Amino acid sequence: MIEIFKKISLGNWILIGMILGLIFGLFLNFYVDNPFIKNVILMDNIFYLGGNGFIKLMKMLVVPLVFCSIVVGVASISDIRKIGAIGGRTILIYIITTAIAVTLALVIGIIFKPGLGLNMASVAQSSSVVMNQTMTDTILNIIPDNPINSLANGDMLPVIIFGLLIGYILAKLKEKTQIINDIFTQGNTIMMEMTSIVMKFAPIGVFCLMAKTFGSLGFEAIIPLTKYVSCVLLGLAIQAFVVYPGLLVILTRLNPLKFYRKFFSVMFFAFSSSTSNATIPLNIEKLSELGVSRDVSSFTIPLGATINMDGTAIMQGVAVMFAAQAYGMDLGTSALLTVIFTAVMASIGTAGVPSVGLVTLTMVFNSVGLPVAAIGVIFGIDHILDMFRTAVNVTGDAICTLIVSFKNNSLDTDVFNGKKPQKEENHHVTD
Ligand code: ASP
Repeated sequence: MIEIFKKISLGNWILIGMILGLIFGLFLNFYVDNPFIKNVILMDNIFYLGGNGFIKLMKMLVVPLVFCSIVVGVASISDIRKIGAIGGRTILIYIITTAIAVTLALVIGIIFKPGLGLNMASVAQSSSVVMNQTMTDTILNIIPDNPINSLANGDMLPVIIFGLLIGYILAKLKEKTQIINDIFTQGNTIMMEMTSIVMKFAPIGVFCLMAKTFGSLGFEAIIPLTKYVSCVLLGLAIQAFVVYPGLLVILTRLNPLKFYRKFFSVMFFAFSSSTSNATIPLNIEKLSELGVSRDVSSFTIPLGATINMDGTAIMQGVAVMFAAQAYGMDLGTSALLTVIFTAVMASIGTAGVPSVGLVTLTMVFNSVGLPVAAIGVIFGIDHILDMFRTAVNVTGDAICTLIVSFKNNSLDTDVFNGKKPQKEENHHVTD
């Protein structure tokens, strides 16, 4: 029996944890009435501890792991122009996929009219979300005021920039800074080992997160907004299962099924935790099992977790159409283009943490003069949509990374196709 358990891969254990958590949560929701057992013992203690404890463990890894691997990755690339090429391509693909995502959502909103005939008064209105970030702020925030602060606060874009600079200087000064270079290399090895230890707890963490969410979820909130929820889910499904595989096939000729078979466990974790930021270590790990060099993924995945949120953009596109229709406002072509632009900017300017998409939605609504109060209407069901869109967000980061690595010759296609085992890596691939 133990032998059989040992043969189950970590990815499958995560899936098992997720399904069991879902079943157990629904069981609690529908059949257990005792508030002491259900709420006090299970929800607020055991599941809360197991679920949030695991998210905290993952978050603990993010800054040192990302920082060390970016420094080591860049320092080991002798041709520094390659970093520019990888960076430029990655940002371009991230922006294109997000623009596709919003456009898709707007089209779905125009076809299915989710807000038509909705009586705004019948759904609770409570909006407490405000966001005042201009485009120039978004750009300026990339430069760290104080790198130590950025590291301490986990602000990914300034951390990435600072890591890139240190790596670049180490590559330039070579022997002069060998000791620091060695320290980062060993720090990176330590963080990779820590990641694989933490990952072993993923199935338990995912079980607790799912049981807690589905044990307390009020499904009643979904009913008046069924059309809105369905439109968002449709958009997410098209993006994940048509747009991404399409891009992968057209741009790399890789088989998307091989990707999804391995990658589902990352999507499950993103789904249960609702945060792309905490999913960074698992995403990098899985991509290296798919043959992507860590030199590339350790840079593109944290970058993607911050600047690429296609799932979030889809929710925002549908929400704009929903609110416009519910208030009887007609959005012309220029307003729609403004929405596409603002949603892309909103996706760039914020980190991948739970529900942030709802906050940046105010920026998108403001850009075309839609009443922000409408956000209060979708507030209640946003948690469940956040889960789905985070899974799409991390998939988008991984697909773009695969494309960039392929174009950059740092993808081992034999490993991707399962013809060769994953190689032990220590950052020397892209040269
Ligand atoms: N939770 C999402 C993420 O971390 C962001 C959002 O849409 O709220 O990717």
